[in-house]
Amino acid sequence: MRSVPFARIDCHGNELRYLQDVLESGWLTTAAKAQTFERRFAEQVGAKHACAVNSCTAALHLALEAINVGPGDKVLVPTMTFTATAEVVRYLGADPVFLDVEYGSALLTPDICRAAIRAYPEAKALIVVHFGGQPAEMLRADGQGITDLCRRHGIRVVEDAAHAFPAIQGSRPVGGLGDAACFSFYANKTITTGEGGMLTTDNDEIAKRVRVMRLHGIDRDVWHRHSRRGSQWEYDVVAPGFKYNMPDVNAAIGLAQLERAAAMRKERQRCALRYLERLTRLPALDLPLLRSPVEHHAWHLFCVVLRRGAAEARNRLIERLARRGVGTSVHYKPLHRMTYYRNRYRLEPGMFPEAERMWQGCFSLPIYATLTDDDVDYVCDQLEAALAAEAPAADR
Ligand SMILES: *Cc1c(COP(=O)(O)O)cnc(C)c1O
Repeated sequence: MRSVPFARIDCHGNELRYLQDVLESGWLTTAAKAQTFERRFAEQVGAKHACAVNSCTAALHLALEAINVGPGDKVLVPTMTFTATAEVVRYLGADPVFLDVEYGSALLTPDICRAAIRAYPEAKALIVVHFGGQPAEMLRADGQGITDLCRRHGIRVVEDAAHAFPAIQGSRPVGGLGDAACFSFYANKTITTGEGGMLTTDNDEIAKRVRVMRLHGIDRDVWHRHSRRGSQWEYDVVAPGFKYNMPDVNAAIGLAQLERAAAMRKERQRCALRYLERLTRLPALDLPLLRSPVEHHAWHLFCVVLRRGAAEARNRLIERLARRGVGTSVHYKPLHRMTYYRNRYRLEPGMFPEAERMWQGCFSLPIYATLTDDDVDYVCDQLEAALAAEAPAADR
């Protein structure tokens, strides 16, 4: 039987060569490769600064710390996301305020954010998730984009861009659409370093703070200390920082991935277009709602929703697909359904009707550069067959 896994790692470019360079150089931790990776990444997203770290979670934590989020502060976050988006708010003793999302795109919209700002004018910051790789509407010519609205109310904006490299909103790449943006290079993200992340910003103060806090609160990084003449041992600690730096071992992989990022995005777009064409025939499914041109989308995820489904029907469908060799996943069980957030903030499903409607039926299909047209067709055929098996006779 054919097997189409949900994700497949692709390190077939210069990864091994650059990794060998690092291993032979005798310097494995943060140094020249990480700096080069930062410079190239900043160029690609058109941001003034890029700070490499060891995860997107670390980048989100550092971003909130740098904009002074602290105990008692409120931070607006969507409920339809991975727990990292909200847990970092708790790291700093602040409280997440969970927002519903738009059905179909799973994005925060300017309308949702306008209402949230009215309800929580004291909010310190908003974290926007560019869900699945599709950018939220951050900047708008009429001044009604999410970042535009937040700026007018003194609310800082952090992009959770874990799914969104490379992506474009309007005419600007994701990575410069708020105060800071956080990217993930976890193994199954659009580009990988094994584990890793990047924070980009145009703000000098934020960049300076992040560079200090990502490495123990030391005022200069290790590389500078060891490459400078004179008192090489000397450093100062200005805050109780974190251990979040990206080793050169990981940056080497990232440099090779960066070379192929645009080509791999294009292959994912090919898969997405084929899914869109093939699956419009299936009335039982809602396809992803597109808010931006297909070529601006990073296409990290291809999420569909089984209509009129209850979660049990979706789960059965996933099982059926697995038996036919098709790997899927679910993005996401929303945070208001997770024990910790539900109990601590007394959250009820009824408070998030659109996220609930998505969650009950949503599942994600394989989408990656090495997925062939034949693979996509196989997934679509198996999906069609599995749906036919699921549907009551009257629906067929
Ligand atoms: C993967 C992911 C993260 C966390 O990324 P790490 O690099 O694993 O820390 C954060 N937010 C979202 C939406 C993600 O999908």
